Amino acid sequence: MAREFAKSFYRTEAWIKARKFAFDRDYGLCQQCLEKGITDSDGELIPGEEVHHKIFLRPSNINDPFITLNPDNLITLCRNCHMDIHRKKKKRRNTLNIKSGVFFNERGDMMKSKVYIVYGSPGSGKTTYVKEHKEYGDLVIDFDLIKQSISMESKTEAPDNLLEYAKGIRDYLYTMIEQRNIQSKNVWVIAGLPKKEQRRRLASRLDAELIFIDTDLQTCIEHIMNDSERKDKEKQVQLIDNWFGYYEKG
Ligand SMILES: [Zn+2]
Ligand SMILES: [Zn+2]
Repeated sequence: MAREFAKSFYRTEAWIKARKFAFDRDYGLCQQCLEKGITDSDGELIPGEEVHHKIFLRPSNINDPFITLNPDNLITLCRNCHMDIHRKKKKRRNTLNIKSGVFFNERGDMMKSKVYIVYGSPGSGKTTYVKEHKEYGDLVIDFDLIKQSISMESKTEAPDNLLEYAKGIRDYLYTMIEQRNIQSKNVWVIAGLPKKEQRRRLASRLDAELIFIDTDLQTCIEHIMNDSERKDKEKQVQLIDNWFGYYEKG
């Protein structure tokens, strides 16, 4: 049933590996029948025959291993259930929960979705770093941007009374990451985190890799002075001073 654009994909070794992974994970059973409690006339569970892509393969995603080879996008089905799904015209929500936290790259290697904590002083260039390294679709958690989004003030001038809301939003996102209930390949958390213990605690909570943006104080101040989005320069310099005052190596 493979359409022309997908034919060569179904012959790749990476697909054969990913397919086998999904099939074995599902114990070779039709997951749909299993969920509905459907068995055959002998009361046996229905074996799966085909591995289906929950987000359908399209010409536009056929080269995206995150769709084509991601076990979270694969499900074992019997032929009947599989035909049903493709017959149904009603729109499905094309979202994908990476519950297992793994996917396959184009070479067929098993990969884990990654969480990075990018930390350093205000003005050190954390945002620039993330902009340069993120991929389209990555989740980015930046406390300043959260505050901005709920205040409509400039990036660094959100009023204090909204702080608790911003913290609540951030914590909600942290919880999603903790449970690996995420729908993106990478997650980038931007934070100051001058203290070693704070960093360690967050990194272990989110199972994240720490990336330090190691910029000296003078350069941080220069960045702030040249950043038109940061209005209150004096307050910004004070924040930099605080950060370097608290900073612990390691
Ligand atoms: Zn299918
Ligand atoms: Zn079935």
